[in-house]
Order: sequence, then C-alpha cells, then structure tokens
Amino acid sequence: MTSTSSAPDGGGARDDGLRALLDGFSECGATPGGGVTRLCGSPADGRARDLFARSVREAGAELRTDAVGNQFGIFRLTGTPGAPLVMMGSHLDSQVRAGRFDGTLGVAAALRVGAALRAEARAGAAFAADFCAVNWTNEEGARFRPSLIGSGAYAGRHAAADALDIRDDDGISLGDALAGIGHRGGDPAPPLPACYLELHVEQGTVLEAAGAVIGLVARNWGAIKIDAAFCGEQAHTGPCPMDLRRDALLAAAYAIADVRTIAEGWPGRVHTSVGRILVAPNSANVVPARVELSVEIRSADDAILGAAGARADAALRDAAARARVDLAVIARTERPIRHLTESVRDLVALVAEEAGYPALSLDTVAGHDALSLLGRCPTGLVFVPSVGGIAHNEAEATTDHDVQAGFAVMLGAARRLCRAGGVPKAAMRGDAR
Ligand SMILES: [Zn+2]
Repeated sequence: MTSTSSAPDGGGARDDGLRALLDGFSECGATPGGGVTRLCGSPADGRARDLFARSVREAGAELRTDAVGNQFGIFRLTGTPGAPLVMMGSHLDSQVRAGRFDGTLGVAAALRVGAALRAEARAGAAFAADFCAVNWTNEEGARFRPSLIGSGAYAGRHAAADALDIRDDDGISLGDALAGIGHRGGDPAPPLPACYLELHVEQGTVLEAAGAVIGLVARNWGAIKIDAAFCGEQAHTGPCPMDLRRDALLAAAYAIADVRTIAEGWPGRVHTSVGRILVAPNSANVVPARVELSVEIRSADDAILGAAGARADAALRDAAARARVDLAVIARTERPIRHLTESVRDLVALVAEEAGYPALSLDTVAGHDALSLLGRCPTGLVFVPSVGGIAHNEAEATTDHDVQAGFAVMLGAARRLCRAGGVPKAAMRGDAR
C-alpha cells in the first residue's frame, strides 16, 4: 500500500500512490514519444478502465459502470443508505499522440482522494456524504463526436441510446466499441451529486506566467462547432478541363483559410480552427468528390462568438460557391459561456489558501466534463499548470510538485465537503483538519 502524508514543504497532503497510479495509466496506450494514444473504446482505453476498476476494488469501494460506459467508484464514508454524494473525476480517453496528464490526472486524483477519505472514515472520522470517483466516457471527441458524451449522458443532456449509436469514421458505434473492450455496463448510475469537482491540467500558460500553482476556473469560453461537407463531382485529374471541375477539396481549402482569417477580426478574443478533414476518394488522380471538415470557433464574449460564428457560416457558403460545389451542414452545436458555481469556487479558494497555494481565477478555453455537470449541481473546476502550456501533444507535462499541490487541494476540499454533507457553504465553515 502507498501512503498519504503531510508534505515537507507545508503544502498539505502528499500522496505517493498518486504518482504510481499516474504511471500505471501512462502505460496504457503509451507512445514512443512519451505520451499516450488512448482513443475511447480502444484496447488501450480498456486497459486503463481495468486499472480504474482494480483501484476501486482494492480501496474497498463499489464499482458501477453505466450504459454509456461511465465508471463510478463509490467510496462509502457514512454507512447511511441514500447519503448525499460528493463526486470528483475526469476522463481517461485521449487524443492521438497526446499527453499523459490530460483527464488522467483528475481521475487518478479522485481515486486517491476516495482511498484517503475511506481510510479516515475507517479510522473513526465522521462524514455526512459519501464520495464518488468517476471516469467519464469519450470526453475528447477524438474517435466519437461530439465531445463530453459520457458526462453529457449522465447529466441528461442527451439520451444514452443516442450516445451509443454514434459512429466513428470506420462506422463502428460507441456501443459496439465499449462492448468490444468489456466496458459497456448495465449498472444504474449514481444519483446527481451534492457537489461535483474536477481537477485538470490547464493546457494554457496563464498559471505559469503568473507563477501560480492552483487555478480556479471562473467561466468557460463559448464554442461553436460545425461539421460540414462539400460535395462536388468526381473526375480524372488529368483530362477533365479545369473549368468543368467541381472540386470539393478546393472548397475546403478556401474555407480553411477564411476560417483562420475570422480570428484576426478580434485579436486574442476569438480562436478558430479546422482540425479534421476527410477527403473522398483521396487519390492523387481523382478530383475529390466529397470533403468533410470540422470547424471550431471559440470566444469568451457572447456577442463576438455569435458574430464570428455567422462569419464561419458565410465562409463555408462562399467557399462552396467559389468552387461550384454543394454545401451540407451535418451538425452545428453551440456551447454557451457560463460561470462555474461561486460557492464551490469560494470553498476551493479557501482550501488552496490554507494549503499555501493562493488560487488564481481564470477562464477555461477548452471544454471539460465539469461543464456537463454545471447547472445540474454545484460544480467546480480546478487547474494545475501545464509546462509551457503544451497540450494535446506527447510533450505535455505537469511537474510532480504541481500534481501534489493539486491533489492536496482536492483532498482538502473533498474532506470538508464530505463532512458537510456535500454543501459548499457549510463546508466553508468546517474544520480543515
Ligand atoms: Zn481533458
């Protein structure tokens, strides 16, 4: 067994088991470049899920896997059936050639917080809420789109049956992929928690630039995501006269450049991208007949986001017209700008202050599972620094010091919440020790 103890630098609890658990997860889908490729529903995802399940059982907690494969580890602290839950977690799936900490840190920290609190309960500490560690299915949206599928289903934002029917680019459904790795569950998900907290790496440079260790997310940037297809006509790249061509890839090229230009209208306030493209038939000798692409627009200002989104819509239409092809919008979703729960932020700020890491308030530009829970229950999102802001890259890193600081703050917040029945305001008044 590994131990949780006081850190020598006064920064609160230090957990040796957390490093071991992170290393264990890092082996699942490890890449030669030091990162991970752990797409949702892949064998590597299956191995990481097996490790989650093993960790839950070894800590004496109850494992549940719901219909969309969300894994819940329920750590009984109260002995009271129906006691409120404090939930903490993130995701174990990753992008291709991604970092080891994205999502995984939040899951591993939650498992270790659960184990620590359960040990305290066994030693006689009194709690008024049970604790739940969670691994949400398909946060990344890398293999199955959209992102946040598991947490969204849990929060009632879409039906589980619809989520299971979503197909990857090879036509394999999420349901079949989960069944293939033995993690399509049938257990009832636990009820909505009294409070949800997520620890995640920042994936940006705000904390590093400020010399801060703990980031407290105040609000999320909004996002507009458009999946579109240009449909032209397949032809021979040699003899077909240029003026007769209806080249779907040419339309995509116009659109990609124009979407990039949109960001220049609001420097620093709008982020745009085209990160995914599928070309059919994708042969050097064939004028492409169909090209599918994924456009993203992000901003922290509602009015700007709306205007930039409208420009993206127009850019797609104009690109289709210029290349004389048809445009089909497959999906268009909007993620609203919202604030994380103030009482949870206040609690985490207090615990961080006590641990010696004054929290810095910041935005999240990226989406996280916490945003699925936000509005359903009091929700908090906590960041620790990413070295150089590197993210969705094998070189992504967070120092051991910062990992332990994040863990100490999450454990402190969870302990107070579980003592206070999961109510953040009551937890503010509780004893930190
Ligand atoms: Zn993540």
